[in-house]
Amino acid sequence: MSNWKIPLFEPEFTSEDIEAACAPLREGWISMGERTYAFEKAFRDKICAAHVFAVCNGTAALHLALAALGIGRGDEVILPSLTFVACANVIVQQCAIPVFTDCCSEEDWTLSPQDIERKITHGARAIMAVHYAGFPCRMEEIVPIARRHNLAIIEDCAHALFSIRKGKPCGLWGDIGCFSFFTNKNMTTGEGGMLTTNDDRLAERIRLMRSHGMTTLTLDRHRGYARSYDVVEFGFNYRIDEIRAALGSSQLQRMDSRLLRRKEIYWHYLEKLKDIDGIIIPFQDRTEDNVGYHIFPIYIKKSSIRDQLMDALKQEGIQTSIHYPPIHHFMAYREAGYSAECPLTERLTSGEITLPFYPSMSEEQISIVCESLRRNLLALS
Ligand SMILES: *Cc1c(COP(=O)(O)O)cnc(C)c1O
Repeated sequence: MSNWKIPLFEPEFTSEDIEAACAPLREGWISMGERTYAFEKAFRDKICAAHVFAVCNGTAALHLALAALGIGRGDEVILPSLTFVACANVIVQQCAIPVFTDCCSEEDWTLSPQDIERKITHGARAIMAVHYAGFPCRMEEIVPIARRHNLAIIEDCAHALFSIRKGKPCGLWGDIGCFSFFTNKNMTTGEGGMLTTNDDRLAERIRLMRSHGMTTLTLDRHRGYARSYDVVEFGFNYRIDEIRAALGSSQLQRMDSRLLRRKEIYWHYLEKLKDIDGIIIPFQDRTEDNVGYHIFPIYIKKSSIRDQLMDALKQEGIQTSIHYPPIHHFMAYREAGYSAECPLTERLTSGEITLPFYPSMSEEQISIVCESLRRNLLALS
C-alpha cells in the first residue's frame, strides 16, 4: 500500500473482524437492523449512557447533534480552532456561526475555559468541546460556564474513545457526545460514528433525524410491522449499515486491551523523548485522567524548522502529520470572514508534529522514531 517504514497509524483487523463483516453479506440483510442495535447496546453498556445512536460517520454525528439541539441561523457555537475542520463545517452548514477559542496553555492544548467566557456573546447557543488527542477538556470548568450562560454542550469524542475525567466518561459531560470510527481512529469501521446522550427528548429527535424524520424504518416495513409512515422532523439519512456495525461490535470487544497497549506505547515514548532538547510534550500533568490515547503530538520550539524536520523524517520512512492547521487560517474560513483571536493556537500549530502512534508499534520502532527525531533536530538547529 505505502512504503512507509513506520506509518502514522495502522488499523488492525483480526480474522474475527473479517468474519463479522462478512456475516451480514452471507445472511442477506445489510441496511440498519439487528446488528446495528447489537453494536449500540454493546457501546451503551461500555460507556453507561442512557441512549446511543450509530451513524455513518463522525461528521454526521456532529451535524445531527447540532440539528437535534435546534442550532440554526445566526446561532453562535464556541469551539477550538485547534480541531478537525469537520467541527466548524457542520456549524456553518447549519447557518450558525463558529466562534474560535484558544488553547489553555503550552501544556494543555484543550480549549480554554477563560477564553470561552471571554468570547460568549448574547448570540451564543452552544459549546463544542473537543477532547484533543484523547485528553479530556476541563469539563468541570466548562460545564458550569455553559449552565451559567444557558449554552448546550456537544462533546467531540473522535479522539477520546473511553477517556474518563474525574470518574465521568467523555461523551457524558455535555448534552450530546459524538464519536468517529474513521480508519485512523482508535476503533474503526472504515466510516462510522456514534452519538451518546442521557437526555430522552434529544434521543428521540436524534432517532428520528438520523432517518429522514420518518416514524418507521425499512426494517419495520420489511418485517410487516408497519405499512406506511409519517414524517415528523426534517431529517437526514445518517444511518450506518450492518456490515460496519458488525465490524464495530467485533472491534469493540478488543478495545480494552488495545487501549492498554496505547498507554504502554505512550509511556515508552515519554521515556525515550525526555532527554531530547527543543521539544515540548503537552499534557504531562494529566496523570489523574484516564486517557484513551489517540495521537502523539509534540511541539518543536524552533518552529521554523518544523517542515524540514518532517521532510527529514519522511526521508527515513517515518510518516508524521500536523494536528491541525488552525481552522480560521483555511481559505474558505478567511474568505467568509471568520477571523479569530487565538495567538497560542497559532504558535503551537506552527511547531506541531504528530508522531507515529498505533497499538502494533514495537518498542524498537518507537526507538527508531525518537532517534531520528533527536538526530534531525540537532542537524537542523
Ligand atoms: C475524525 C474526526 C472528526 C470527523 O469524523 P469522521 O468520522 O471522519 O467524519 C471530527 N472531529 C475530530 C476531532 C476528528 O478527529
